[in-house]
Amino acid sequence: MRLTYHTIDLELKHPFRISRSVTELKKNVIVHTDEGVGEAAPSEYYGENAETVIQCLERVKDQLGDDPFQIESILSNLNKNISGNFSAKAAIDMALHDLVAKRLCIPVYRLLGLDGNMPLVTSYTIGIDTLDKMKEKTKLAEGFAVYKVKVGVKDDLEMVKAVREVTDAKIRVDANAGWNADEALEKIKQLKEYDIEFMEQPIDPQDKDGLKRIKEKTGVPIIIDEQLMTSKDIPNFVGLCDGINIKLAKCGGIREALRMIHVARAHGLKVMLGCTIESSVGIAAAAQLGSLVDFLDLDGNLLVANDPFEGLKLDKGKLHLSDLPGLGVVPKDR
Ligand code: MG
Repeated sequence: MRLTYHTIDLELKHPFRISRSVTELKKNVIVHTDEGVGEAAPSEYYGENAETVIQCLERVKDQLGDDPFQIESILSNLNKNISGNFSAKAAIDMALHDLVAKRLCIPVYRLLGLDGNMPLVTSYTIGIDTLDKMKEKTKLAEGFAVYKVKVGVKDDLEMVKAVREVTDAKIRVDANAGWNADEALEKIKQLKEYDIEFMEQPIDPQDKDGLKRIKEKTGVPIIIDEQLMTSKDIPNFVGLCDGINIKLAKCGGIREALRMIHVARAHGLKVMLGCTIESSVGIAAAAQLGSLVDFLDLDGNLLVANDPFEGLKLDKGKLHLSDLPGLGVVPKDR
């Protein structure tokens, strides 16, 4: 198999601010294994960027063998030889799934034995901004059944209130670990007034005592995202949360995401499938697993002004997978 790659510069429609960072341009890496395509969406928070992805791809490009159907052994060899680098591994995993499904002339969800036709309701993320801008962004993105509001800064309850003033849709809230435990207990109590669906990553994931107190005292479902990378991390959070947020760029791809879904279910946890800023390639790859999870947050491509790919349709806040073979995405300028 021949592995090739190129970088893409994704321009955000609005600067995307969360509690710890702001993004205006995201550099991702598109990876091809023969006619298969995948995407690495690296995150500096996990020590990855386009350069580390390329270094990883250069190290492994001659180690993939000639049989793309051996996805399990190709990926387990990668994991044995290279630690971390989850976004690069995810790109290879996606490209292999895309390639195998294309060779079989079926969509990836059918390769996985999953339903690709059920409605995939995704949230739309409202990044941190002025109250007026947050209201305006919510109104501009009208039609979604769920909005995810980023918080984790001073006066952030006002932000949730502002969004609630302009929509009756569900609201989920993500602090990206921007609070301490006492602050979180107080703020989540107040957030109940705005009828929130769940609270994602209120505090530092290392603060296990804090998480336990929050889960026991607030009565609002708590979802863990930050630092929960692969299936091995899930048992560490049992009893401290109600669910987990799986992202392909964080766990290493479709195959590990499937494993995580099963491990989470065995522990009675809810499952959310999330994303970072990425093109339709990465979003379509995650959406193949959409029928298996409770909550979808697959809007990374919608926050971007220049998605170079197409194939995933959005209608009234619902994603529709393409029935083309593979991930069902093609370059826009083809
Ligand atoms: Mg999150």
